Amino acid sequence: MTLVAAKLIWLCGCIAWFVIRLPHQRRARKTPVAVRADRTRERILLTISFCGMFVIPLIYVLTDQPRFATYRFRPELAVLGTLVFAGALVLFYRIHRELGRSWSVTLELRDQHALVTHGLYRHLRHPMYSAFWLWALAQLLLLPNWIAGPAGLVGFGVLFFGRVAREEQMMLEKFGEEYRAYMARTKRIIPGIY
Ligand code: SAH
Repeated sequence: MTLVAAKLIWLCGCIAWFVIRLPHQRRARKTPVAVRADRTRERILLTISFCGMFVIPLIYVLTDQPRFATYRFRPELAVLGTLVFAGALVLFYRIHRELGRSWSVTLELRDQHALVTHGLYRHLRHPMYSAFWLWALAQLLLLPNWIAGPAGLVGFGVLFFGRVAREEQMMLEKFGEEYRAYMARTKRIIPGIY
């Protein structure tokens, strides 16, 4: 594994994620929305996450900047990063199918929103966020740069911690006892731990 290969794998992973999401994005646009959380806050959080997981690493991949933050490339870490990214993409594919029309980019509830508690949602309330954490970890492992590597963890971390409690609150307001019981028997993103 070379540095160029690791950069290409990161880029291919991003493209694959985009392709997996595309049909769901199209359907989501046509699915009526009943409740919408504060859109400005959502947009700010999404922009921060997008910069950390895509813009900053893309600049590094294309230009090697910021050069002062570069460290020695370790092929074994890049191989591990490739496996983690592949795992994240498999998860994305599966989760999108399970969440179906309940999925949205920002915090929203659909008309006749269905609470999903099957498949991976039987164990975790936020498996899609688990997949994003894995992607951010893969970025760290693939890109040997102290800014571009961890930028994904920081960017997605801001989105995750700025959103997850509000998302659960929104679900509690909509589904009441059903969601409370679901919360009691599931973890957020790591089975058995958190
Ligand atoms: N947090 C989830 C879903 C991310 S998509 C995950 O990480 O897998 C965000 C949208 O999913 C939210 O707007 C919310 O309406 C919806 N959502 C979250 N959990 C859900 C569930 N268990 N069933 C149905 N919709 C859910």
